[in-house]
Amino acid sequence: MYSQLKQGFIFPDFQTSVRHCGVVNAFSNPNITLCAELLEEFQAKGMMNAFVFVYLHELGHTLMRQWDLPLWDNEDAADEFATAFLLMGNQKKIALDSAQWWQSEGATTQDAVAKIWMDDRHSLSPQRARNIIRWANNANDITERWQRVFVPHMQTTTLQSMLNDPAVSDKDFVRSELSRRNTILPIGLSSGQSKCPNGQDIVGRSCAPMCWQDDCKVAIPCGSRVATEISITKPREACLKYKSAQVAPTPQTHSGTGTPPEQPTLVPVGTVRPTWPKNAGVFVATSSETIPPFPRSLSGYRSENNKDFWNQPFTLRGSLRLFGRDVWEGIPHFPDTMNGCSAGVFMVRWRSADPSIAVQSSVRYSSSVPSKTTGTGVFGYMSGSNCEQPMFKVEVAGSRLVDVYYELKFWQAAP
Ligand SMILES: [Zn+2]
Repeated sequence: MYSQLKQGFIFPDFQTSVRHCGVVNAFSNPNITLCAELLEEFQAKGMMNAFVFVYLHELGHTLMRQWDLPLWDNEDAADEFATAFLLMGNQKKIALDSAQWWQSEGATTQDAVAKIWMDDRHSLSPQRARNIIRWANNANDITERWQRVFVPHMQTTTLQSMLNDPAVSDKDFVRSELSRRNTILPIGLSSGQSKCPNGQDIVGRSCAPMCWQDDCKVAIPCGSRVATEISITKPREACLKYKSAQVAPTPQTHSGTGTPPEQPTLVPVGTVRPTWPKNAGVFVATSSETIPPFPRSLSGYRSENNKDFWNQPFTLRGSLRLFGRDVWEGIPHFPDTMNGCSAGVFMVRWRSADPSIAVQSSVRYSSSVPSKTTGTGVFGYMSGSNCEQPMFKVEVAGSRLVDVYYELKFWQAAP
């Protein structure tokens, strides 16, 4: 099973073990532990299909975590992963069998297996079983959605063979991933230097033509929509003309008398940087250049490198994948708390990896508590208290998945 998995997918190695673990159920940390008690119960009941499902559920937690997907510790997402995985492997029966069995009298709360696996975080089995049955009966919807998740993490040979598989509906998506892999990254990308052709700049992982805002001060990928909903389409040449018209050397008179000709004043491209706003809130920018840098100080607070509100280590930069769903996603393990809301302040700078996909941003207590402010754009920045967290979702639910690159700064209350 593991070697087949390795042939199909790209992921860091992990261990799977079966051992006696008392009443504890199967878990993923990200190594997978399957409790022997669970295996014995499933064997005794003749329900090995359900055991396979449990394994795939844990595999879902493990792989989603290793792929940096935000919902890796979500039980519904792990169930969905397991169901999608089975459907894509033409094993719908395993999904339906286990779900129906959980839903039937075989798995009441008195049942030993139900107790072993379904207690604690794996609760609400009837509802989860109904979900699985619903997904399995709408196979097209779920496989299409999960193919989008799987494809970026699949081995190139597997992707190539998918092009000949009639069950794969969205071959264009597979093709675009393959062509992305064949694209040689511009040299020096890691050091942040652009090696793109003239008029282009790095967007995500490849070069894209850049256009300019009307003032010719900031460049943004052509066609991007910013908060103003105005499409940025001014080609680079227009700005170059503007620039060269301004710097065109004034014909010099011969040395001698007279005042020297006035030098034209030039606004250097990309040097206009706003400062970080005084008040906390949600802000949208039109380019990376117009996202203000983090301030060096904040009255009443101190900040330490790579530490959160609580002086604990925290990775301050990363990316967050949005799946095109109508769900607010947060940075995994964000250190927000429920009380003492003046103990800390966070700041975040972000941009969408795909300039054609705008992202909604918000400072909120959780994905379910409404927030007063939302900002939608390709670039943005926000700040809030230690009781809040930055959250994101795609502007239009149902669009393609997109990554959000972010950078954080935490402030701890100080004299
Ligand atoms: Zn789970």
